[in-house]
Amino acid sequence: MTSSQAEFDRHSHWFTESSLTESSRSGDCLICSNLVHSERQMIHSFLWEGMMSSQARTDFLEGGGFCPRHFWIAKRIEEDEWPSGGIGVAILCESIVAKAIQDLPNPKELSRRPAIGPFREKPRVEVSSPGSDCIFCRDQRDREESLVEILEFLKHKPGWSEKLAQSPLCVRHALMAFRMWREPVDKLQLRTALDEYLCQLQTDLKEFIRKHDWNYRHEPLGREKNAVIRAIQALTGLARQFPVQKFGAEGGNANGTRER
Ligand SMILES: [Zn+2]
Ligand SMILES: [Zn+2]
Repeated sequence: MTSSQAEFDRHSHWFTESSLTESSRSGDCLICSNLVHSERQMIHSFLWEGMMSSQARTDFLEGGGFCPRHFWIAKRIEEDEWPSGGIGVAILCESIVAKAIQDLPNPKELSRRPAIGPFREKPRVEVSSPGSDCIFCRDQRDREESLVEILEFLKHKPGWSEKLAQSPLCVRHALMAFRMWREPVDKLQLRTALDEYLCQLQTDLKEFIRKHDWNYRHEPLGREKNAVIRAIQALTGLARQFPVQKFGAEGGNANGTRER
């Protein structure tokens, strides 16, 4: 048994292998695809049963609740999965609002004028972001690292080099692999593949920009037509990490009957 094989068995992440196989079907970064899927599953099960546990609720609140992206994902999941109207997100909102009230500054603090002269430099305003220690972001970071690590072992199994070539890692996940992978040959192969991918993307972007010119607009579009989306995804992750807002879903339910 090779050391890589032993290492993989030690991890015994056969379930991760099958979940990554599923992720490879989209053709997008393997890790990004897997994370988008797993975070939805996690939030769904938190709304379904996790939040009934007071320990889970406490951890959630201590992390400041959801970060903005996970908050909207939770809202969207509830709309999709509990069509007659769930109250999970409402209960969580109520707890977060209660904490926000509790954390309001003491009126005495606000009654004091800050001791800053007109020509003194203003101090930086430090206000923590909402859900700055979101438990789903934390879990996402752990899962992300473990997926990158496992991928190096999977890469040596039959069929996996092809899967990786068809669903190339985004820049962030490739940079993580350069830090975490052990074998220089694996890292060098990944670097070559990423370099080729980015150079092709650069060519496609140039072509996209060139064809925008009035003189060349009559030319039919080629592979550069979706270059901007591919570039944003390679640089910042998949577009589908963001929940899609149902049109007209800002208030009440879809037909507005609960609006007052
Ligand atoms: Zn990625
Ligand atoms: Zn989050």
